[in-house]
Amino acid sequence: MSAAQTDDTALLHVDLVVLGGGSGGLAAAFRAAEHGRRVALVEPGALGGTCVNVGCVPKKAMWLAADLGARIAQAAQLGFALPAEGHVGFDWPKFITDRQRYIHGIHDSYRKRLDRDGIVVLPARGRLAGPGRVECDDGTCLAAPHIVLATGSSPQRPDVPGAEMGAVSDDFFAWCGAPSRVALIGGGYIAIELAGMLQALGSQVDVHVRDQRLLRQADAEIVEQLQENYRQQGVNLVFGYALEALRRGDDGRLRLQAADGSVSEVYDQVLFATGRRPNTGDIGLDTVGITPDANGDIPVDAWQATPAPGVYAVGDICGCGPALTPVAIAAARRLCDRLFGDKPDAKLDADNVPSVVFSHPPLAMVGLTEADARARHGDDVHIYRTNFRPMREALAESNQRSLFKLVCVGAERRVVGLHLLGDAADEILQGFAVALKRGITLDDLHDTIAIHPTSAEEVVLLR
Ligand code: NDP
Repeated sequence: MSAAQTDDTALLHVDLVVLGGGSGGLAAAFRAAEHGRRVALVEPGALGGTCVNVGCVPKKAMWLAADLGARIAQAAQLGFALPAEGHVGFDWPKFITDRQRYIHGIHDSYRKRLDRDGIVVLPARGRLAGPGRVECDDGTCLAAPHIVLATGSSPQRPDVPGAEMGAVSDDFFAWCGAPSRVALIGGGYIAIELAGMLQALGSQVDVHVRDQRLLRQADAEIVEQLQENYRQQGVNLVFGYALEALRRGDDGRLRLQAADGSVSEVYDQVLFATGRRPNTGDIGLDTVGITPDANGDIPVDAWQATPAPGVYAVGDICGCGPALTPVAIAAARRLCDRLFGDKPDAKLDADNVPSVVFSHPPLAMVGLTEADARARHGDDVHIYRTNFRPMREALAESNQRSLFKLVCVGAERRVVGLHLLGDAADEILQGFAVALKRGITLDDLHDTIAIHPTSAEEVVLLR
């Protein structure tokens, strides 16, 4: 143990206490240790938090399974002979074993690195206990001049009767098979991803959205194409839907009741993807005078500092930047570089954060949507788009289409937004996100020789 223990029984003095061992908390602990500081990390659950255990990582594994299933079906259309009279079964429990083995590997690598860096890990629930103090439910008390709060967020259910009978994304990861009929409530990232995966893996999915479209924050035209692709895949999209209650029938199956009184067909599972709420309850915020805002977010300034001296917050518990793992990691690293690494100006830059919705096909976006650009730059906005069938879809005579859209401003056509819906969009976007951040123009794209034949080349050929 690298931390110094004081004479009074269990008060451990360190340079930094981190509450929460998810993406943000681990990044803070590792970076502070790299700067030679003594760190204690308090985490009652599995290392890696939401991302590793019930988020990005298991989600991407399930997405890969769904993607493989769709490709196998397409292979059959393209002349490949499939075993067992053309039917390929999916052994979901076997796949979960593989998925969890992969996740355990991540846990192991974290543990090794925490040990190597001399970080004290307390497998306990911690709470603030006044300025510079943290109490753990195993009786340990910690003292530190710096405390980072990184306790993440949890899925929230809407406040309607029967909501407790519905599942949330955490529950999905414990399922051992595709339910026949699934109702999803919500139209954001998680609803879109779960809908695509479940439909591809054998469920009949109905998505109920209170808005008139999916993914309010994404470019409208891109979302329209995604909706069209989903409808072709068999996903039923219900817009303008106001859920009033969830009811269980005598057969044990669930029905939705809408505000207009209509009652849905029966579902084997109802899944709520209606947003997440910061985990700020019972972490002792009152003991240091921090009050969460109306969304439950901990208030922080551009330097991740809360109103309490020496207390900082990163990740989903503070509303700075989108709720994404790489954003939490970036914020935590910069914070620790500033506190311990002699970089007084280090702070998160939450502009032009690229992100990907793992739909089928994936939707990747960075920068401004057309609507945002027009609101900001008026008539100075120039749009370039291409709507095409990628080669594999065309070979298989499928109508799944890709849409790539470039948003530029000014006479020099500076690129301020790039929105890609299509196969491999998740892999294509990262490099273009660097270019956008560097302020490239349409001419820079045109000066770049295309890679042929690919989908990615469409970005440099847009005119
Ligand atoms: P989102 O905020 O993306 O979407 C929530 C959806 O639920 C919205 O459509 C919202 O509607 C709807 N909603 C909220 N409350 C209700 C209600 N009471 N009744 C009906 N509908 C409701 O949240 P998610 O849970 O999908 O994801 C949380 C965050 O996690 C994301 O914003 C993203 O930052 C992150 N994430 C990122 C992923 C990735 O990078 N691939 C994957 C998954 C999550 P409305 O728009 O009308 O408010």
